[in-house]
Amino acid sequence: MNCPYCGYHDSKVIDSRGVNDGIRRRRQCLSCSSRFTTYERLQPASLFVIKKDERREEFNRNKLLTGIRKACEKRPLPTGAVDKLADDIEAELYQLGKAEIPSAVIGDIVMERLKSLDYIAYIRFASVYREFADITALKQEVDTLVSSDAETSRPTSQLPLLLNEELEALAKSHRRSRK
Ligand SMILES: [Zn+2]
Repeated sequence: MNCPYCGYHDSKVIDSRGVNDGIRRRRQCLSCSSRFTTYERLQPASLFVIKKDERREEFNRNKLLTGIRKACEKRPLPTGAVDKLADDIEAELYQLGKAEIPSAVIGDIVMERLKSLDYIAYIRFASVYREFADITALKQEVDTLVSSDAETSRPTSQLPLLLNEELEALAKSHRRSRK
């Protein structure tokens, strides 16, 4: 790391301590004696996704984010919730400590997280990801969710009023895509 003031190539470490997931080092330039700080962070090994057809593709956070964004479109979520979700999922994937992860595993993790974040977003994501063969399969999934929701003490206000409308829209798009 060159000195940001004079560009000299060498410095000494005058203080170092751990911060969150990295190390903060206070340095002093050996030429002009200016002080500056560097952060050292572990670069995760690259992660590959095993696609359905067995092809490997490097994990792409933007792709993940796009998928989640689409599912969460126009949902009443706090600013940053979608990005945080993507961050959490990415962290979870790296924590698995695997070099390759099947895309189905990633999809399941996304669905699991979306389910607790936003019901409609979950259904949207699931309908695309699971490629529900027909609207009946989708309806079954919804019914399962509704009944499992009833069992847990989730406030009823979280059960979206838009559900039927949303289902009809999905049904329509399914019909369209099958023509
Ligand atoms: Zn310097």
